[in-house]
Amino acid sequence: MGKQYHCDYCDRSFKDNAEVRKKHLSSLQHAKNHAEHYRQFKAPEDILREESAKISCKKITSENGCPFGTSCRFSHYTAPMMWELQRIVSLKHQKELEKFSSNIPNPTEIIDEFFQDPLTSTVTESTDQPIWNIPAELKSWPNLPPSLWPITPAIVTDSNFPKWG
Ligand SMILES: [Zn+2]
Ligand SMILES: [Zn+2]
Repeated sequence: MGKQYHCDYCDRSFKDNAEVRKKHLSSLQHAKNHAEHYRQFKAPEDILREESAKISCKKITSENGCPFGTSCRFSHYTAPMMWELQRIVSLKHQKELEKFSSNIPNPTEIIDEFFQDPLTSTVTESTDQPIWNIPAELKSWPNLPPSLWPITPAIVTDSNFPKWG
């Protein structure tokens, strides 16, 4: 028994010589098996794009089916198969979109933040905080002039301030 050549696509072994190998690789059976093999690894969107560009095969619906199999240049996909394929592709895209959008902030949140009134949001935050604190060393002085009084929102909005000291 000499060297054997095994075709993985056809799962067949042959005596390994250039002529037999060449003959096998150019055979219709091998072309069919080869196409079948790669079809399994094709993305659904690729199949959809390729198949929708083809004219549907007239032989596939005949009694004996299409003799060309997957190597046929016409589409072997029926309308319901194409709809199913379209559904799979759109589901896949939807999942990818969800995966992508979970990493970025929600667009409505961005819009809400953008249109939020900056006055209402910052004023409510800052009015509770003392704007200026009297330094500790001045606290022991009994009669501080008003210019040295701590500035608070109440004093700023009160127009009835005492005379400057
Ligand atoms: Zn083969
Ligand atoms: Zn066909």
